[in-house]
Amino acid sequence: MNKLEQLYEGKAKKVFKTEEPDYYLVEYKDDATAFNGEKKGSILDKGVVNNKMSALLFQMLEEKGIPTHFEKLISDREQYVKAVKILPLEVIVRNIAAGSLAKRLGLEEGVVMKETVLEFCYKDDALGDPMINDYHIYAMEFATKEQVEAIKVMSLKINELLLAFFLEHGLKLVDFKLEFGLFKGQVILADEISPDTCRLWDAETNKKMDKDRFRRDLGDVEQTYQEVLSRIQG
Ligand code: 5GP
Repeated sequence: MNKLEQLYEGKAKKVFKTEEPDYYLVEYKDDATAFNGEKKGSILDKGVVNNKMSALLFQMLEEKGIPTHFEKLISDREQYVKAVKILPLEVIVRNIAAGSLAKRLGLEEGVVMKETVLEFCYKDDALGDPMINDYHIYAMEFATKEQVEAIKVMSLKINELLLAFFLEHGLKLVDFKLEFGLFKGQVILADEISPDTCRLWDAETNKKMDKDRFRRDLGDVEQTYQEVLSRIQG
């Protein structure tokens, strides 16, 4: 499969066509943005870390029965994925209060939620990815009831699998964002799982080991991304 013309360039990745209509090539970049694009920068070798970490996690999830778009890692920054049509939804899964949830509900960051919280946002940069509920999803025809049910079941299962996996590697999974796509009529997990899309805290010290180091200027950004990759590879 060769890399053909570029289909799309996002904030963190480029997507290319391949000779196979059912597969795309994704290239991970070092560009970093936060606060809906207001803060811009670059994290050296973030693209390498996120490509390898996503590949490793998506393979683990596939082995545990979650259908994903991941096909094959092909270089430090590139992977083949199934050519999905991304649903315009961000699914946020939260175990511990942080970020916008802590702010919205007036909770102290670090409060353990009594139950896992699932949120949906409409994926639209111009609108700032507003939070929506199931009724908005059906009224706007973003997804069908069956698709939303499948997404909820998969998201909770992915949370269970990732919580256990990260804890084995000395990390607490605070919250994360998932995206799903349609491939041959089936809803499958797409996009990435990385320190860009998860909040991960050191299990002993609660040190922030994710993009909050960039968002909040906490320093050691590059080293922390490398540390997360080496922990989960170890
Ligand atoms: P919050 O709503 O607290 O800002 O984010 C909750 C979780 O979802 C965090 O782990 C955050 O990294 C992830 N997340 C939410 N929105 C986005 C987004 O637009 N892009 C990325 N990469 N992650 C997001």
